[in-house]
Amino acid sequence: AALIKSVCKTKALHQVVRCYSSSVPTTKLFIDGKFVESKTSEWLDIHNPATNEVIGRVPKATQEEMLAAVDSCSRAYHSWSETSILSRQQIFLRFQQLIKENLRELAKLITLEQGKTLADAEGDVFRGLQVVEHACSVTSLMLGETLPSITKDMDIHAYRLPLGVCAGITPFNFPAMIPLWMFPMGMVCGNTYLLKPSERVPGCAMLLAKMLQDAGAPDGTLNIIHGQHDAVNFICDHPAIKAISFVGSNQAGEYIYKRGCKNGKRVQSNMGAKNHGVVMPDANKENTLNQLVGAAFGAAGQRCMALSTAILVGEACSWLPELVERAKALRVNAGDQPGVDVGPLISPQAKARVESLIQSGVNEGATLLLDGRNVQVKGYENGNFVGPTILSKVTPQMKCYTEEIFGPVLVVMEADSLDEAIGIVNKNPYGNGTAIFTTNGATARKYMHEVDVGQVGVNVPIPVPLPMFSFTGSRASFRGDTNFYGKQGIQFYTQIKTVTSQWKAEDATLKSPAVTMPT
Ligand code: NAD
Repeated sequence: AALIKSVCKTKALHQVVRCYSSSVPTTKLFIDGKFVESKTSEWLDIHNPATNEVIGRVPKATQEEMLAAVDSCSRAYHSWSETSILSRQQIFLRFQQLIKENLRELAKLITLEQGKTLADAEGDVFRGLQVVEHACSVTSLMLGETLPSITKDMDIHAYRLPLGVCAGITPFNFPAMIPLWMFPMGMVCGNTYLLKPSERVPGCAMLLAKMLQDAGAPDGTLNIIHGQHDAVNFICDHPAIKAISFVGSNQAGEYIYKRGCKNGKRVQSNMGAKNHGVVMPDANKENTLNQLVGAAFGAAGQRCMALSTAILVGEACSWLPELVERAKALRVNAGDQPGVDVGPLISPQAKARVESLIQSGVNEGATLLLDGRNVQVKGYENGNFVGPTILSKVTPQMKCYTEEIFGPVLVVMEADSLDEAIGIVNKNPYGNGTAIFTTNGATARKYMHEVDVGQVGVNVPIPVPLPMFSFTGSRASFRGDTNFYGKQGIQFYTQIKTVTSQWKAEDATLKSPAVTMPT
C-alpha cells in the first residue's frame, strides 16, 4: 500500500479508486458515479513486473455488479445524449487539462503496474491525451449534412446521433492510451460508456475515471467493471450495449467480434501484428539502425506497432553487425531507473513464452546473433526481464516468424530486391504497420502503393497516425468496418438520421391524395 501511495503526489486520487483496508490494496469498481468495493469472492493479483511483488488486487465483478453498471449507463443515456454538445465539449476540455496536470503521476502508475520505462509511460499518456484533445473538436466532427430544395419546398437534413450504451475492452500494453481511444470519443458523441480495462493494469483507467468525474461528467455516463472472460461475455451479450471497441490479441478479438456481431452489435477489433521494416541499401544508415533498434526493443517489444521483423535488402545485409552492437548497448532495468531503455515483460508467463519462441528459432535453424535470455538486472533478480535479442537467417515458415512474439526480439530476414521484400510482407497474414527506410522517392512510392498493410511509414518506424486520422490496421490485425478515432471513430460511435421536410406555401395545397411513388 505504501508503495502504491508513494507513486502519486495526488494521493487523494488513489484513495478514491482503491481500498486500503486489507494488507494488499484492492481496486474499486466505478458504478453510477461511485467508486465501490466489489462484493466478489474472486480476486486477481496485480504484480509489479520488475519485482513480481503483488501490489494490488482486482475483482472479478459479480453478475449483479455488472448489471448495475450497465443499468447505470442506460439510465444516464437519455439526459447525456440530450446535453448540449457544447457542455459535453467543455467537460472534455476540462478532462484534457486534468490529464495534462497529472501526466507524470499517471505515467508513474503505468510504470509500476505495466513495467515500461517512465519516459515511455509518459508517451503512453500523451498519445491518449491527443485523442481527448481531438474529441474536443466534436462540434465540427459531428456536423451533419443538408441539401436544400431537393424538390419544390423540400429539404433533406442528415444528423449524426449517438447509439446508446457503448463498451470498451482494453489490453495491458497501453494502460492510458487505449482506454483514451475509446470512452472520450464515444462519450463526447453523446453515448454512455462501460469500460473493462485489462485486469493486469487497471489502475490508470480508474484514475482517468476520477479525473473525468472531477471534470464534470454526470454520474452513470462512465461505468467501469473489472474481470476476465465473464465480464467480456457479459459485454458481448447484454442487449443494452450497442457497440463494442476491443483492442488486444487475435484470440480474444476474433471471439469478441463474432459474439458481439452475432448479438447485433457494432464491433471494432484491433488485434495482433507482425510489423516489417524494409531496409534498402540507399537508406541513411545511421538513422535507420537507430530507428530500427528503437522500434524493435522500445517498450520491451510489447507494442502492437513494434517493428519486430527487419528485411534487409541487398547490400543492407552487411549492416547486421552494427545493428547487433546498437541493440547490445541498450540498458535493461526496472522502468523507473535512470537511463533505462528496456523494462521488464508483463509476467513470468510472457517471459517464458518469449524465451521459448527464441529457442524455437534456434531449433529451426535461425542464427542467434544476440541472446537476451538470462539477462541479470541487479536489484531486480525476480523481474520478468529479457534483453534485446536478434535472430537472423529467419525464414517465413519458422515459428518465431509466424507468431507475434511481443517481446524484445528482432527477427531478421534477407531479400535480393524490393519486390521480394514486398512479397514477404504481403504474404504475412497481419497488416498492422510497416516501414521502409530509403532515400529514393520512387522506391518509397512503389512500397507504399504495393504493400498491403494499413499503416505505412517512410523513414518513420512506428507510423501511428495522429488522431485527426485513424488507426488503420488491416487484414488479420483488424475486424470491423470503421477504425479507432479520427472521422472513422466518430462514424463508429454515431448513427445517421435523415429528415426530409416539406413546407409548402398555403396556395400550393394538394388537391387529391398522392398515390404514386414520390419522385
Ligand atoms: P488480451 O487479448 O490477452 O487481453 C485484452 C483484453 O481481452 C483484456 O481486457 C482481457 O481481459 C480480455 N481477454 C483476454 N483473453 C480473452 C479471451 N480468451 N476471451 C475473452 N476476453 C479475453 O491482450 P493483451 O495480452 O492484454 O494485449 C496484447 C495484445 O494486444 C497483442 O496481441 C497486441 O498486438 C495487441 N494490441 C493491438 C493493438 C492494435 O491497435 N492493433 C494495440 C495494442 C495491443
